[in-house]
Amino acid sequence: MRQRTGAGRRGLVLLVLVGACCEAPAASPATATSPNILFIMVDTVRADHVGCYGYAKPTTPAIDRLASGGVRLDQMIASSSWTMPSLMSMFTSLHPSQHGATSYRARLRPGIATLAALLSHAGYQTAGFSSNPTAHSKFGFGRGFDLYDDFTVMLAADLNLFDDFGEQRGYREAASSPVVNRLALDWLRRYWDRSRPFFLFALYFDPHADYTPPPPYDTMFCPGYTGSENGQNMYVRPPASFTPEARERIRALYDGEIRCTDDHIGVLLRESAALGALDNTVTILVSDHGEEFWDHGGILHGQTLYDEVVRVPCIFHWPGHLAAGKVLAEQASHVDILPTLLAAASIAVPPYCAGRDLLPMLRGDVAASVREARMETGLDVRHLIGVRTPQAKLLHDLTADRREWYDLRSDPAEAGDLVSAGRPAPGAEAASLDQFRALVAKAREDHPAPETQPDLPPALLKALQAHGYLHGATSGPRR
Ligand SMILES: [Zn+2]
Repeated sequence: MRQRTGAGRRGLVLLVLVGACCEAPAASPATATSPNILFIMVDTVRADHVGCYGYAKPTTPAIDRLASGGVRLDQMIASSSWTMPSLMSMFTSLHPSQHGATSYRARLRPGIATLAALLSHAGYQTAGFSSNPTAHSKFGFGRGFDLYDDFTVMLAADLNLFDDFGEQRGYREAASSPVVNRLALDWLRRYWDRSRPFFLFALYFDPHADYTPPPPYDTMFCPGYTGSENGQNMYVRPPASFTPEARERIRALYDGEIRCTDDHIGVLLRESAALGALDNTVTILVSDHGEEFWDHGGILHGQTLYDEVVRVPCIFHWPGHLAAGKVLAEQASHVDILPTLLAAASIAVPPYCAGRDLLPMLRGDVAASVREARMETGLDVRHLIGVRTPQAKLLHDLTADRREWYDLRSDPAEAGDLVSAGRPAPGAEAASLDQFRALVAKAREDHPAPETQPDLPPALLKALQAHGYLHGATSGPRR
C-alpha cells in the first residue's frame, strides 16, 4: 500500500519507540553532515554467481565497480533463506523468531523499532520502493518509512497483479528493475529534501524465479540454445524432472536476470551520482538469500540453510570513510547491518540488537574477530535452525528433531553430513546451537504464531501465489 505520511506518521513512530518492549535509545538528531543511506537489496542472488565473488561469467559489472570502490564482505550470511524473515532481520537486527515476520499468518511484532523508524526518529527522510510481495507493508515492512511504496512496481511492471492466472494460463513476469529505478530516481529528483539526510531503500526482484529475463539477457549466457526450456512455472515442477541441458539453461536464464538487474543498478548509481545524491552517502548492496540449483537436490529457496541459499553478496561503499577495494574476510550476518548503518549515522544502537557494528572492522581499525552467524527458515512448515562459523555449519530440524553438521574447512560444499557419519560436532558450535535453540523456543513461547490468516488484500494474495509462496502450504515458502 502506498503510504504518504507526514507529521502524523512521525508521531506514531515516536509512540512505537516510547512504548517499545525493546527499548530504543534516545536518538541523536541528524545533522547536515550526517550521511545519506542508500540501501539496495537485490533478491535471490547467491554470492558465487557474482563477479567480485569469483564468478567467471560477466553477470555483475556494476556491482563489481561498487565493490572496487568500497568494502566487500566475503562471508555475509543471511538470517533466513527467504525474503520475509531475512529482510526483517536486516531491518530490525533481530532473529526471525524474535521479530515475528515469518509467515503469511504473521507480521512484525508491535513495539519493535525498525531501521527506518530509528533513522526517521533522528530526522532522516525515509522512502522505500519494494517489488516483492512478501516485503509488503501488511507484514510490517513499511514501519518507520515516510513513504513505503509496495504497490506501484508490481502494477507498472505488468506482473499480472490483477489478472486471473493459474496452471491453465501460465504466468510470466516482466522485468521490474526499470520501474524500481524510475520510482527511486523520481523520488530523489522531486521529493528529496536536501536540508536533511535521506534513507532510500530500493528492492530489486528480477533474479527471483520465474527466470524470464527480457532480451538480450535471455540468450546472453546461453547463445545458440535451441531447446524448449523457458524457466517458467518453476514452483510446480519437480526438481528431478530437469534434464542436464535444461539445468544448464536454467542457470543461464538466472544469470541473465542478475545481469539485467545489475545493469539497472548501474543506472541507479550513475543517475544518483549525477543528482549529487552520492556525495555523502553510505551505499549498502546486499541480497536476502541465494538460490538452489540442485546443489543438494532441490531448487528455488526457503527450505534449507546450505550455503547456496545463505551466503550472499554484501558491499558497503562510503568514499572518504571506507577504503576502496578492501575485502573483509570475517563472517558477518544480516543482523549486523542495522547496527553498522546506525553507527555510520552516529545514532546509538539499541541494546537488544542481535548484531554488531561492523564499522571498526570495515575501516580496518580493529582486527576482525570470530563470531557465529545464526539462521532459521520454514518456521511454520518445517522449522530449521542453524549456526555457522568459518569452521563448521550445524543444522537442527526442529520439526523432525534431526541434526546435521559439516566441516566447512574440508567440505565447503556441505556434501557429507558428519552426524550421519557418527562424528561428534565441535563443542563450541554445538553449545551455540543449543543456546540459539533455547532463544528461539523462548521467543516463540512468548509470541505464539497467530492461528488465523491476517486480512490480506486479494491482489496481494494473487501476487504471493504467482511467486510460488502459497503453493502446497498454508504459509511459508514452498522450496
Ligand atoms: Zn527473496
